[in-house]
Amino acid sequence: MAGKEDYKNVWVYAEQRQGVLTPVVIELLGEGKKLADAAGVDLCAVLLGHNVKNLAEELIQYGAKTVYVADDPLLDKYTTDAYSKVITQAIESIKPEIVLYGATHIGRDLAPRIAARCATGLTADCTKLEINPDDKKLMQTRPAFGGNLMATIICPNHRPQMSTVRPGVMEKAEKDETARGEIVEFDYTLKADDIRTVVMEIVKTKKTVSLTDADIIVSGGRGLGDPEGFKLIKELADTMGGVVGSSRAAVDAGWIDKSHQVGQTGTTVKPKIYIACGISGAIQHLAGMQTSDTIIAINKNPRAPIFEVADYGLVGDLYDIVPMLIEAFKALEQ
Ligand SMILES: Cc1cc2nc3c(=O)[nH]c(=O)nc-3n(C[C@H](O)[C@H](O)[C@H](O)COP(=O)(O)OP(=O)(O)OC[C@H]3O[C@@H](n4cnc5c(N)ncnc54)[C@H](O)[C@@H]3O)c2cc1C
Repeated sequence: MAGKEDYKNVWVYAEQRQGVLTPVVIELLGEGKKLADAAGVDLCAVLLGHNVKNLAEELIQYGAKTVYVADDPLLDKYTTDAYSKVITQAIESIKPEIVLYGATHIGRDLAPRIAARCATGLTADCTKLEINPDDKKLMQTRPAFGGNLMATIICPNHRPQMSTVRPGVMEKAEKDETARGEIVEFDYTLKADDIRTVVMEIVKTKKTVSLTDADIIVSGGRGLGDPEGFKLIKELADTMGGVVGSSRAAVDAGWIDKSHQVGQTGTTVKPKIYIACGISGAIQHLAGMQTSDTIIAINKNPRAPIFEVADYGLVGDLYDIVPMLIEAFKALEQ
């Protein structure tokens, strides 16, 4: 039987949809490289699909030293059965020490099944990963107990150590077009009979908002007072080329759709600029935006906790301040 010492390297599951890498993969490669360097091992990726060789090259340019590929018509569209079966075989034969997945719908579907088949642990929804300098074990941190504390979890006895990681939290890897690496087609068995579901058609729903990709987010909270307030927030977001976010209080009040919600039970974001308007800064909201590059808070209460994480704080009524900002940004355009 294999011992812990037989497992080596950090793997990133290279989730792709219709031949395009999911953005979180680039973030996982950025974080995976830091972990691999700290553990003194290589960063690798595991890629499944059909006609995906070009993606293997892209993964190398983003830092993967080796890309393990299964290219197969049976893997053309994601199915739980096929993907979990093939990745489990890759893990059992090649033995990575750490495997990272995006906490996307696919990653959340796949990772627990692979963990069960490989008889190892899985920490879901991590927001921080580190290698313990003493024993080189992976320390996986995630919010616990309603976000009131951060729990650091280790997987001491089983391998690989596996985590799903929230999109939008980790720094993206830099692209290096001159990077060279190895593409390895690994052995596996997969038959059409192994797959119990047939994907007939992929129907894309209209994406209302893409918070994770946005460079600028203007968010509104309960301080708006009513749903009409979001018209002002949208005007500021449009003027700056950003998108609209919100607190959960605004969603719960029915003022805006949940797809806009930022925070622990919404989306985790890391834009260049985050403007919080009439948002108090509850810990569950901060959990989703406090790593933004620049945070600007507008709140009439100078003691609002949002000011503790803000780079710039504007104390006053948002209905006075936001129109002034819109006017100022419009003037810049002329
Ligand atoms: C398990 C759990 C998960 C949660 N997940 C999330 C989550 O994902 N995201 C999230 O946001 N919350 C979440 N919450 C809720 C969170 O605890 C807060 O209740 C919520 O964030 C508060 O929203 P808010 O800041 O808009 O409202 P409030 O806390 O009511 O703050 C409103 C703010 O607006 C200011 N204000 C009022 N009028 C004006 C004005 N005219 N001009 C300027 N400022 C004004 C006030 O001073 C106040 O600071 C969660 C809670 C729990 C228990």
